[in-house]
Amino acid sequence: METGSFYPAHPAKLSDLKRKRRLAAAEKRVESSNLHPATLGISQLNPKAPTSGSEDTFVFTVQNLALDKAVIYPDYRVFSFEIASDGRRHFLAGPPTIVFWKIKRLKRHKRHWYEVIGQRCPCKLYFDIEFHRDKNPDRPGSQIVAQLKDLLIAYIRLRLGFILELSDILDLESSTNNKFSRHLIINLPGERLFENNLHVGVFVREFISSLTEEERRAITFWDKQGDKCELFIDLSVYSKNRNFRTYLSSKFDRQSCLVLSESSHRLLSDLSDKDIFLKSLITWTENPHADKIKIPGAVQVTLVPNDPSIKVRSTSATPANHRSLFPEVDHFIEGIIKPGFVRKIEWKASLMTLEYEIQGYRYCYNVRRWHRSNNIKYIVLLNRGVYFQMCHDPDCQDFKSEDLKLPLNTQPWVQLFDDEDPFETDNDRDFEDELLLSIYDKVVNA
Ligand SMILES: [Zn+2]
Repeated sequence: METGSFYPAHPAKLSDLKRKRRLAAAEKRVESSNLHPATLGISQLNPKAPTSGSEDTFVFTVQNLALDKAVIYPDYRVFSFEIASDGRRHFLAGPPTIVFWKIKRLKRHKRHWYEVIGQRCPCKLYFDIEFHRDKNPDRPGSQIVAQLKDLLIAYIRLRLGFILELSDILDLESSTNNKFSRHLIINLPGERLFENNLHVGVFVREFISSLTEEERRAITFWDKQGDKCELFIDLSVYSKNRNFRTYLSSKFDRQSCLVLSESSHRLLSDLSDKDIFLKSLITWTENPHADKIKIPGAVQVTLVPNDPSIKVRSTSATPANHRSLFPEVDHFIEGIIKPGFVRKIEWKASLMTLEYEIQGYRYCYNVRRWHRSNNIKYIVLLNRGVYFQMCHDPDCQDFKSEDLKLPLNTQPWVQLFDDEDPFETDNDRDFEDELLLSIYDKVVNA
């Protein structure tokens, strides 16, 4: 199985050469800087810290410099810590054991540390789970998380062939009276990691799409305002350089620290805090050479029927409303075709394309008015981050509207690589031509 078809051209372009150039530039910038060390980079010797290969940690005000530094030292990872209530952070590159030692030394209410999941860093499967208790009274959060773990263990066995024990799922809790909050970190056999956070995100979406309607409903909760239902799994965490709160840390000015949940406590009571800390890190492994798991997008992904418990905007008789694996994009398209609705979505993994068949909204950019009877469709090219309109009216069969930009917040997977070169090679143009031809064929034959 190959990954190229899911991520055409983009990740393949992360050339070593370019990376090396960036690293060299960053290094030079740090070394030649006359700024006070605390404002840019600082080599902090920790005379009291336990030895772990290297004793240095480096603190930066810029996240990318810390990430670049960590690339040079294989046993380094990147962390951030909040320095003010407005979310401002500094970034540290260093060995995790030293970072743990630093965190442990701080007073309990001063620990505001996050692991930075670098965009190209291999990482574990993890989940950020939360719901608001006041809008979901009487929902047994712990019990629902336990069911989710069972489903996950079954799915991992089926999809990846790994047999997982409950104790392989580290379950951290940071719940308050208002909010139920858990982090699940999955430690796979052989300490295997996924290729990067993007692959984890695709895997999680696939997992969710494999659930039955009933199973999905069980993990769906009213949102903060209480006006719509959503999964209690936060899908936005699988994005570029995500900061994920560490074990024993709280958010700035908050009391609630991430600690072992009751269920994990029962299973892992013999582990030290340091062991739990290392086990909880998303990007850390004792076995860095294990094969990385890649999730190819070329697999046929089935569409997820809409959860009937979710309110449907349209009042027309039971529209066959559908959702794709990209809820952010679905939501955006739904927004621009009000009062219409999405009748059907077709996902073409090999072309990274979503085709939305629209009903109840027939505005066509070709005739610049609504069609009387023929429907329109919207096409989203995920790899280019654009969308356009096409039309089922016979007079419009060759029409394609101009490309419009998909908002960045709808495509966290593109943001993962947004500092790379745009598509400019002949291959990219060939790809685009092929894609357009295939869509034209479909419309003509519809
Ligand atoms: Zn038209």
